[in-house]
Amino acid sequence: MPQMAQRVAGFGTTIFSEINGLARQYNAVNLGQGAPDFDGPPEVIKAAVEALNGGFNQYPPGAGILKTREAIAAHAKRFYGQEVDPNTEIAVLSGATETMFATILGLCDGGDEVIVFQPVYDSYVPNMVMAGVHPRYVTLRAPDWSFDPVELTEAFNTHTKAIIINTPHNPTGKVFTREELTYIADLCQQWNVIAITDEVYEHILYDGAVHTRMATLPGMENRTLTISSLGKTFSVTGWKVGWAIGAPELITGVNRSHQFITFTVASPLQAAAANALTLPDSYFTTLQATYQARRDYMIGALREAGFEVFTPQGSYFIMVDWLGVAPGTVEDDVQFAKWLISEVGVACIPPSAFYREEDRYQARTLARFAVCKQDATLQAAVERLTKIGAKAK
Ligand code: PMP
Ligand code: GLN
Repeated sequence: MPQMAQRVAGFGTTIFSEINGLARQYNAVNLGQGAPDFDGPPEVIKAAVEALNGGFNQYPPGAGILKTREAIAAHAKRFYGQEVDPNTEIAVLSGATETMFATILGLCDGGDEVIVFQPVYDSYVPNMVMAGVHPRYVTLRAPDWSFDPVELTEAFNTHTKAIIINTPHNPTGKVFTREELTYIADLCQQWNVIAITDEVYEHILYDGAVHTRMATLPGMENRTLTISSLGKTFSVTGWKVGWAIGAPELITGVNRSHQFITFTVASPLQAAAANALTLPDSYFTTLQATYQARRDYMIGALREAGFEVFTPQGSYFIMVDWLGVAPGTVEDDVQFAKWLISEVGVACIPPSAFYREEDRYQARTLARFAVCKQDATLQAAVERLTKIGAKAK
């Protein structure tokens, strides 16, 4: 019997698919996977339909439709004062996920080390494994998910090619401060390292938190590869339109790998991206206000239900400690997530999926809830969560 490659044999199924399956089986209110249960802005969807009817149905240029790249550049200028050349410093790819993989393949050689912060978004390390790149882990510690500067400093060495910074951070909701980013930037310059940033939650911020773009810090313009995508900001996670911004040499590396992975990105959706990114400021402020209300409501409800909440400053997610609410028979975060789905009827993600094997114990009493849901969905979840005490007896 032929067998799959060793390269992927250890991967298993992603936690998101696993929890979605269980949530369906038990008819649970699904606050697991970070995917909205509502649609994106009607004008953006209309732009995609118009593109479909308007002849945007053949291969677009490999680096992306120029109008889309111009819109990405205008967005970078509008929100971060960043000057970017749409001809040489931007590439459009299939979501932040493909952008990250193409970036690792296009910028790192086999045997290089790439530093990641743990908990780490679940696709980065498998990307590295497939590219023959070695991950170096630096831990973010609760309650504020800060890193130990000494641990970070010691992670850099002559083999380090890049460091990945995801801010706002999935799953903790941490927004890296300017001081933290400056500390990382200094190390990048000292060791000639590339900063790869995953900024997909750049517009989902709470309590006045400010998103700092690493590429705009002194000395970082030419050594930062900024990744973002449409999915979260415009509530169209299924569209998978993402992009990379960086110096021409870095973007050329990304394009070289991308041309032999997917070559190009769905043209009508790319065309609509140009429309989305040029929506007025009011769209972005309303998005933030709506998410702030959802987050505040869920924080209150989770506390009321007995969880210890780690208040997020950004992203779709709320991390909690469930030790005070679960029955004594529940021993770890995976068991908790399964118990919550089958007995309480609410799905969450067990955060150990974001840790390497030997560090999974750090997530033993944690759970991640997504807030990117309609009010009625959140209310239905809260109604069930209020009964958690009775179920735990
Ligand atoms: N990075 C992070 C941190 C995420 O949470 C997600 C989840 N959607 C992605 C990347 C994937 O983005 P995309 O759907 O654009 O591939
Ligand atoms: N980023 C989403 C989350 O963290 C999931 C995306 C996926 O299913 N790969 O929930």
